[in-house]
Amino acid sequence: MTRVLVLNCGSSSLKYRLFDGADTVAKGLVERIGESGGDAADHLTALQRIMAETDLDGLSAVGHRVVHGGPEFTAATVIDDGVVERIEALIPLAPLHQPAALSGIAVARKLLPAVPQVAVFDTAFHATIPPEGYTWAIDADLAERWQIRRYGFHGTSHAYVARRTAEVLGRPPAETNVITLHLGNGASACAVEGGRSVATSMGLSPLDGLVMGTRSGAIDPTVIFHLHRVAGLPLDEIETSLTRHGGLLGLTGENDLRAVLSRRAHGDAKATLAFDVYTRRIREYVGSYLAVLGRVDAITFTAGVGENSAVVRAASLAGLEPLGIAVDPERNEAAAAIISPDGTRTAVCVVPTDEELEIADQSRAALGLSRP
Ligand code: AMP
Repeated sequence: MTRVLVLNCGSSSLKYRLFDGADTVAKGLVERIGESGGDAADHLTALQRIMAETDLDGLSAVGHRVVHGGPEFTAATVIDDGVVERIEALIPLAPLHQPAALSGIAVARKLLPAVPQVAVFDTAFHATIPPEGYTWAIDADLAERWQIRRYGFHGTSHAYVARRTAEVLGRPPAETNVITLHLGNGASACAVEGGRSVATSMGLSPLDGLVMGTRSGAIDPTVIFHLHRVAGLPLDEIETSLTRHGGLLGLTGENDLRAVLSRRAHGDAKATLAFDVYTRRIREYVGSYLAVLGRVDAITFTAGVGENSAVVRAASLAGLEPLGIAVDPERNEAAAAIISPDGTRTAVCVVPTDEELEIADQSRAALGLSRP
């Protein structure tokens, strides 16, 4: 048996999914942890509750989603005390996300001491980006001292979706170049060359790159100096503004793209502009990654928006026919696996992501187990 429990721990939530092979045998979400009227007082109680409700017999691993692996974690890693210390040392790089993952690891090691635990990092897939792709042209000593570089996130999703795209095309993953577009609440683009990430749009944090539900995506850093110096906003407030009150929410007051689409359909000017900004940014990254990769076999849409919104898929790639990229309206409406017309140079695909399955598989692989 290779049953794997996947835990995705947020500051006030614990999402879990139990796999038997590739099959999901249990899943759920404990919410509003630590809040009055919430599901549990703390993460320990939350996991105890999950264990009481779920048959964890024959568990061969617990896989933990960890947002930041820093420069050193380049693959899923079996957890011991030393690994926990090294993950703790990365808290300054992800102060909003890392403590929650550590708390999930601590309670799982405590309550399931006999089960091997594996950390699966959102950054690890991007460890293959070459230095010229992850280095910013800032003072090199400062960058080295403070570990400032592009790390990239959503790695488990990009890895999974790029591999699945190769399967859809019937090509070996090692010979397939894909631009993956993970468009969910968070959003990022990735250039995958023969199964390896060579460029991605998120940076030191998940704030960079595409326009997201509440995150601005890429902006000129001078915006921050200006808001601080001229508008007098404190840094914390600027960070909150860019990460929680930016993106679609900042432009329209709605963070859910469905609401933006419905307002746009009724002619709302703000929603129309937000949609145009959102899809143009995607097109800019597609163009950039076409140039990075040279030959692109497929462009793949995934996650909540990418899997469900035909109008976003069509608008994001509009006008690229001269580059051999086109979307067939009927296939797009049906969200077929391949939505480009037959015979185009670059296929356009829709591939549902499954980050938890990828975490389970990477956890098994880190332990030398294979999926039955
Ligand atoms: P995810 O983070 O992958 O769960 O994606 C969540 C986001 O997907 C939501 O905030 C919605 O904006 C978006 N979404 C889900 N379904 C649709 C849909 N049918 N059309 C447009 N956007 C959608």
